[in-house]
Amino acid sequence: MATISEMVAVPQVKQTECFIGGKWVPASSGKTFETINPATEEVIAQVAEGDAADVDLAVDAARDALENGPWGKMDARDRGRLMHCLADMLEDEFDELSALETLDNGKPISDARAADLPLTIDCLRYYAGFADKLHGQTIPVRGDYFTYTRREPTGVVGQIIPWNFPMLMVAWKWGPALAAGCTIVMKPAEQTPLTCLRMARLAQKAGIPDGVINVIPGYGPTAGASIVKHPGVDKVAFTGEHLTAQTIMKDGAQSLKRFTFELGGKSPNIVLPDANLEAAAQGAHFGLYFNQGQCCCAGSRLMVHDSVHDELVERIEAMNRDRKLGNPLDPATQQGPQIDQAQLDKILRYIEAGKQAGAECRTGGQRFGDEGYYVEPTLFTGVEDDMAIAREEIFGPVLSVLKFSDEEELVRRANDTMYGLAAAVWTRDIAKAHRLAARLRAGTIWVNCYDVFDAAAPFGGFKMSGIGRELGERGLDAYTETKTVTVALN
Ligand code: ADP
Repeated sequence: MATISEMVAVPQVKQTECFIGGKWVPASSGKTFETINPATEEVIAQVAEGDAADVDLAVDAARDALENGPWGKMDARDRGRLMHCLADMLEDEFDELSALETLDNGKPISDARAADLPLTIDCLRYYAGFADKLHGQTIPVRGDYFTYTRREPTGVVGQIIPWNFPMLMVAWKWGPALAAGCTIVMKPAEQTPLTCLRMARLAQKAGIPDGVINVIPGYGPTAGASIVKHPGVDKVAFTGEHLTAQTIMKDGAQSLKRFTFELGGKSPNIVLPDANLEAAAQGAHFGLYFNQGQCCCAGSRLMVHDSVHDELVERIEAMNRDRKLGNPLDPATQQGPQIDQAQLDKILRYIEAGKQAGAECRTGGQRFGDEGYYVEPTLFTGVEDDMAIAREEIFGPVLSVLKFSDEEELVRRANDTMYGLAAAVWTRDIAKAHRLAARLRAGTIWVNCYDVFDAAAPFGGFKMSGIGRELGERGLDAYTETKTVTVALN
């Protein structure tokens, strides 16, 4: 992994328009919106504000590329090669892209370089390898017939992504879609359009044919909803809030859209009495405060056995006090700003609700500084199961610590949530770890670790944390249709 020691220069913004059929065009309406630097609250650039008319053009371009362009006829292995070329380009522009991500999102440059960029590149390479490995089956049916299946691209796919890991979400969506031979209409989050647009430019430079990838920046209820409602879009992949997913599901009902959803969480991070406390404290801290707490799988309910509670809390308190907040382009910064004013306000409201409900605020509890959307790393103890800070997704640097004494009761309480995205267990008892892993109702269970992601490991939610899985081989399911062909042999 590349490292740097000096303050990173502010990167150039080059792409701000819609990318349709390989061309950069303003929104049909001529409208633009501001993308803001969350560390300074200054406008970085004006970006085209796409809506229904632009989505129509993008869907036409994607359909044409699928049915008439070189993409549909291309050998699968060549598709994979182009994806590797895109990954090469990201490697070539590693410094520029990580700085651009930091500028638009506010995440510390050290995180962009250590996590976002490497995971993005890895995901594209992982799926590039699948392009020529999407086999059908031969099926032994009754009678004198030869039956086989083909895995065909689902078609034109709509992809709507959030702002917390802008480039990585592009890779999670483009990777399986391109490997399967689909064509794409993507809407990046209105808070963070810049790296997605840059990636579209690099995809074109890599040789991915025009029209295969189209990007429409804009707002959810206009550009996003137009993608969902469009009859020419065969499938929608969405990452964001469960309330938005409910709207999307209703909007897509008319055309019976295929959906994959990756939504929120209130993930339990469980520390048993025999855990390695130093490792558990590090894991609890990283599992919540990483990315300013803006992770769908954040370990936001830290459930700690009575007997180790005080020691664990003291360790986390110390880490919070040492945490360096500041300019995200400074490599020494550990925590940047939240994404925008709305998130800052929401987080401060939750902190207030926690205090009002009687939880003890051990660190933080307020805004940091008066420029940029910073929140101090906040730690609540004495949190009860029915408090809002124990039940609702805050999406900020606010950790709620809950105590437990009985393990049966622990499983019931850990599962008592509408979410089911992730959970973690810290213990030295291997049998107990596996037993708990089986009983916790969540799509990912980490044992003695947190936030370990790999392009090969499926990720997604139980319950209201989502539908379907991304990453791994299963991640291709949503981008392929199975076709059965039966041939009479007599
Ligand atoms: P967050 O709280 O993380 O912003 P959202 O679910 O609001 O989560 O947003 C995630 C993505 O969904 C963004 O790209 C946003 O513009 C988009 N979005 C919001 N509302 C809609 C909608 N009604 N239809 C389609 N996309 C939407």
